[in-house]
Amino acid sequence: MEIVKLTALELSSKIRAGELTAPEAVEALAQRVKALDDSLNCYVGFDVEKALERAENAQKMINAGGAVSLLAGVPIAVKDNICTKGEETTCASNMLKGFVPPYNATVIEKLLAAGAVPCGKTNMDEFAMGSTTETSAFGVVKNPWNTSCVAGGSSGGSAAAVAADEAFAALGSDTGGSVRQPCAFCNVTGLKSTYGAVSRYGLIAYASSLEQVGVIGKNAADTAALFGIISGRDERDLTSVSSAPVDLNSVINAADLKGKKIGIPTDFFDGAVDSDVAETVFSSVEVFRSLGAEAEHFSMPLVRYAVPVYYVIACAEASSNLSRYDGVKYGFRAAGETLNDVYVNTRSQGFGQEAKKRIMLGNFVLSGGYYDEYYKKALQAKGLITAAFNDALKKYDYILSPVAPSTAMKIGQGISNPLQMYLGDVYTVMANITGLPALALPCGFSRGGMPVGFQLIGRAFGEQPLLEAGNSFQRVTDYHLQKPEGRCADEL
Ligand code: GLN
Repeated sequence: MEIVKLTALELSSKIRAGELTAPEAVEALAQRVKALDDSLNCYVGFDVEKALERAENAQKMINAGGAVSLLAGVPIAVKDNICTKGEETTCASNMLKGFVPPYNATVIEKLLAAGAVPCGKTNMDEFAMGSTTETSAFGVVKNPWNTSCVAGGSSGGSAAAVAADEAFAALGSDTGGSVRQPCAFCNVTGLKSTYGAVSRYGLIAYASSLEQVGVIGKNAADTAALFGIISGRDERDLTSVSSAPVDLNSVINAADLKGKKIGIPTDFFDGAVDSDVAETVFSSVEVFRSLGAEAEHFSMPLVRYAVPVYYVIACAEASSNLSRYDGVKYGFRAAGETLNDVYVNTRSQGFGQEAKKRIMLGNFVLSGGYYDEYYKKALQAKGLITAAFNDALKKYDYILSPVAPSTAMKIGQGISNPLQMYLGDVYTVMANITGLPALALPCGFSRGGMPVGFQLIGRAFGEQPLLEAGNSFQRVTDYHLQKPEGRCADEL
């Protein structure tokens, strides 16, 4: 089998068995990226030299026979908002062009310690703000299933790279669905962990109270292995906590789901969800029933507040987090006669439209006179939504929903209708507002042949049972094994 077609766990086992080497894996990947990425635009940077250097180090660790992880030797693509020492990290923004972090994010340190090979920086919406990767200063990422469609966002580059075998697995970030939604659009598997399960140190902040570094893989087992490596408490992120490590064997051996209860909020299917998506997602419920799980509908009326709550909180935090980009400390600086001119010119020229809009919205909802009406109210509603979810999760092991109301939209469609784009986040933002873990899995295709995904939301720190359910599902389905080649992809 072609090297790039292997899953991350398969690749590592071959490398550890001496059938392949980590540098060979990097070379194979680099060739694939060279062949496809001019068209797909998944990467904003792919430093082959650097990747080879890391791969050689990983290979030395493996040859020395030390305790190496199940992903030893595997190249892992990294979203460009995760700091990589000595390697440009831009958040796909002109504001950070030329910014070379002097340190690694904790998740990168953990990958290196596990013998994995951080490899390439992936394209994204500017500062992770968006759902289509169209706000990137490097141009849109194209969907490998149909290159006239978006790959989703904001981790569009990471998801499309895994889907097109331009990555074995990838890191993304999920503030409001940015790992799960592009996974659903591109037919790959993605996990947003419980808030605090993964360190945010070195993840360039967008909305700190909502986001986590997330993992993207070709299947649930790869996703579990990668999550297992990056999770855990980090002294440098005081919101991170230690939790029981993922037991990969029980994920891989998870068979039936007898005794598990799945709740499906009826309100999630009112209104705007495409019929193709709804039907496909419902078919996944039948799969769970055949695996022995019970599934029933219940009502979650607060869902209609999720999008406004998310956007008020996310913009408020973004306006504060992005205030650090003033032309003095990082990246881009515009000329100006006075200090104030430098600030104004830098921010005017450095930020794109979407970032500016959110900074203004955020400042508005935090300003005197409006704070109580918007920001405080959003926090109160966040509390109510969280309580409702935790209540439902007393009864149900998992809450099942679509990932997005539609399949990947045509390029240009989302950006020209921002309200529609924001509303498309309705299912994913729930896990960020509540801090709960959520796993997105492929579950079929629309009539137009585009991938559809569903998500399972689990109990806090219940990544293990989520990944087990994901693996059980993938044992009896083959949606995740479908590849864009020979389907709609015109250029693959
Ligand atoms: N689409 C959402 C937004 O634009 C989510 C982004 C994210 O998760 N980073 O904010």
